[in-house]
Amino acid sequence: MFLIFGNSISESLINVVAFICHFCGQNVPQNVMKRSNRISLFFIPLIPLSTKYHNRCTNCGGVTPLTAEQAKNSLAWSESRR
Ligand SMILES: [Zn+2]
Repeated sequence: MFLIFGNSISESLINVVAFICHFCGQNVPQNVMKRSNRISLFFIPLIPLSTKYHNRCTNCGGVTPLTAEQAKNSLAWSESRR
């Protein structure tokens, strides 16, 4: 019997906010992304190793790391603007 271990990284869009990008200086939508790294067994992701958040500019692709708190606050911010 043999086991196939590995790790898988998945990235998902959790929110879109708009502000002036500090890379390109444009007021454009910014994608708030969640990146999860998990141990997989037989290519099935099982145990989460780390979860990180970042913000990616849709104009220039500039990436800014975010804390989980900042990502959560972006959801509250977009809820308040509906
Ligand atoms: Zn930008």
